[in-house]
Amino acid sequence: MQTGILSRSSAWMLRWAPAVALFAWAGAGWAQDLLITNVHRVDPAAERISKGLLLIEDGTIVGPVAAAPKEFAGTVVDAEGRYAIPGLVDTHVHSFGNMAPDGKMEMLFTPGSAKRALYAGVVAFLDLFGMEQVILGIRDGQRAGKGYPGASIFASGPCLTATKGHCSEYGIPTRIIDTPADARKQVGELAAKNPDVVKIVYDHEDYDGHSMPSIDLPTLEAAIATAREHDLATVVHIGHWQDVREATLAGATAVTHTPRGPMPADLPALMVEKGTMIIPTLAVQSELADLIADPTPLDGPLAQAVTGEHIRTPFRSRENFSERTERWLVWQKGMRAEILRSVGKLADAGVVVLAGTDAGNVGVIQGWSLHRELEKLVEAGLTPWHALRAASVDAGTLLGAKWGLTAGDRGDVILLDASPIDDIRNTRKIHLVIQGGKVVDREALLVP
Ligand SMILES: [Zn+2]
Repeated sequence: MQTGILSRSSAWMLRWAPAVALFAWAGAGWAQDLLITNVHRVDPAAERISKGLLLIEDGTIVGPVAAAPKEFAGTVVDAEGRYAIPGLVDTHVHSFGNMAPDGKMEMLFTPGSAKRALYAGVVAFLDLFGMEQVILGIRDGQRAGKGYPGASIFASGPCLTATKGHCSEYGIPTRIIDTPADARKQVGELAAKNPDVVKIVYDHEDYDGHSMPSIDLPTLEAAIATAREHDLATVVHIGHWQDVREATLAGATAVTHTPRGPMPADLPALMVEKGTMIIPTLAVQSELADLIADPTPLDGPLAQAVTGEHIRTPFRSRENFSERTERWLVWQKGMRAEILRSVGKLADAGVVVLAGTDAGNVGVIQGWSLHRELEKLVEAGLTPWHALRAASVDAGTLLGAKWGLTAGDRGDVILLDASPIDDIRNTRKIHLVIQGGKVVDREALLVP
């Protein structure tokens, strides 16, 4: 049965309401009341900047208020000259850590990546494939208040793919679905572990001279239908535009990545009609080439704080690149203009675009790259308002949580030193991060 996006997301809201309330509290330690004064409130839902007070009570945004509550006993933050935006959400990461272009690794593991992300103003991320037991265990621990300070962790757990399909090449065990019966069995078993979304690979793209085996259409349809029976959202990794079309028709909640080649003209309207969102991941598809062409963004204080020099330097030296990385570079250069154009058209047509980086891959850095993704979304033609929505309000519709600056939204707020509407790159000028109504000790997050 096909249902529209509204009925689906409201079903998740109901399902997630108790869990959201619990981990909003747990993730923030002791939630408290916080009053931000003299602040420019940058509200992406209303596309309006207003100046005044912003009140957070019990970890939840009360909204702009005209005056401080009588005998206010909470924390007061004077934000004169500063800009409040919602906490940012990255809807596509692999939170093991970072990989340099020369293959060097920065193993942070999920708890470490959650800390770096929060330092960078990323208050939540969606991990779309890791070690199932480990990542779902850490997520559950965080929601139960058993430590793990940092960004709120959302996770798919495994990646559902064909035998020898994409995701099977990393040596990490995952769930294999070669038939509709496999799909029903595996999604049913996985549902018992409450993944935040079900990640499925449906990819017929020929990359690097070969294409990996993909599940067939009946298997995709069975996986999506079974996920729906369990009220689970689906994120489908796609290759071709035809994969996007078939995933859309099969009822995927979201597709991720942006295909090369011209986008079929009728596809955006079909995605709008079916309520299928897209996580384009412009960062993973262009950032290696972009940072090699101009590595100066890596000199910024935020990039330097959240990642090691051994990850940043190879973008400059370009030594010891594997042949595969060199080919990846050529591949990125060849499609950059086209994928940006397609994302601009999708956004114009009203397809819901979500900000996701695919951090963990070469060229992409946990936490920091979300700011680059926002910059690329604006380059693709989204307004800064729209880009901010992609990383807050709209991300919430996929994850069944509320981010924004309106009453009832999670008390996750970033104070910036300059307006992101004047220049989206100003999201990197972070003065303060607030999570669940509590001012985050950012420096403590950098202690290994
Ligand atoms: Zn990925």
